[in-house]
Amino acid sequence: DRHMFQMEKLISFGELSMGLAHEIGNPLAGMKAVAQALLYEEDLPTGVPEALSRLEAEIDRLAGFLKSFRGFAAAPVPVTRACALAEVVEDVCFWVRKEARSAGVRVEWLGLDTAPPVQADPQQLKQLLLNLFINALHAMPEGGTLRITADDVADGMLHFHVSDTGVGMPSEIVNQVFEPFFTTRETGTGLGLSIVRKITQVHGALVHIDSAPGHGTTFHLTWPLSETP
Ligand code: ADP
Repeated sequence: DRHMFQMEKLISFGELSMGLAHEIGNPLAGMKAVAQALLYEEDLPTGVPEALSRLEAEIDRLAGFLKSFRGFAAAPVPVTRACALAEVVEDVCFWVRKEARSAGVRVEWLGLDTAPPVQADPQQLKQLLLNLFINALHAMPEGGTLRITADDVADGMLHFHVSDTGVGMPSEIVNQVFEPFFTTRETGTGLGLSIVRKITQVHGALVHIDSAPGHGTTFHLTWPLSETP
C-alpha cells in the first residue's frame, strides 16, 4: 500500500545517500590526488595544465555536492511534536503485518496505551521502529514473537523496548551493529541500525542492546517525553 511505499522510499534515500558518500567519495578523492600529482609534472603539453585544473575544479564541485547530500541524510533535522507511541507502533505494525504473518511471527504490544506522549519527529520515529521490526523479522525466520513494551517514566524519559525471540547475537557482534555498513546478512546493507542510532542521537534519546545467542534480542530505548503538557 501507499504507506509501505513511502517508508521504502525513505529507507532507500537514507541508504542511497550514505552509500553514495562512501562509494563515490573515496574514488573522487583518489582522482583529485592524481590530477594534482600530474599538475606538478614539468613540461606538460600546451593546454594540459588548464585541462587538469578544470578537472580538479569539477572534482571539487562533485565532492561538495556529495558532502551536502550526505550531511542532509546523515543529520536529519527532526521536526518534533508530541507523539503517542501506541499510534506510531500501530502504524508500523500495520506495514509489517503481512511479512510477520507469513514468517509465523506474533506481534504483541503492552503498556503503550498508558504511556505519556514522547517528543519526536513522527516520520523518524516510524523509520526507527520499522528498521527494528524488519531486523526482528530477519532474526526469526522460523517464527517467534516480536514484542513492544513501555514501562516506567524516569527523569522525564519514557523507557520502551523492542524484543524478539530470534537468533540473537554474541557480544562481539552487538558491539559493531551500529556501525554503517556492518552486516552479517548476505543481502544486508548494514545501514538499518546506523540510521536507528542517528535518529536517537538527533532526538536526545538513547538506545542499547541486550542479546542472547539462540534466545533473542531486546533494543532498549530511552526517549524524551513531550514538552507540551
Ligand atoms: P542489515 O539488516 O542490512 O544487516 P542493520 O544495520 O539493520 O543492517 O543490522 C546490522 C546487523 O545487526 C545485522 O546484519 C545482524 O547481524 C545484526 N542484527 C540487527 N538486528 C538484529 C536482531 N534483532 N537479532 C539479531 N541480529 C540482529
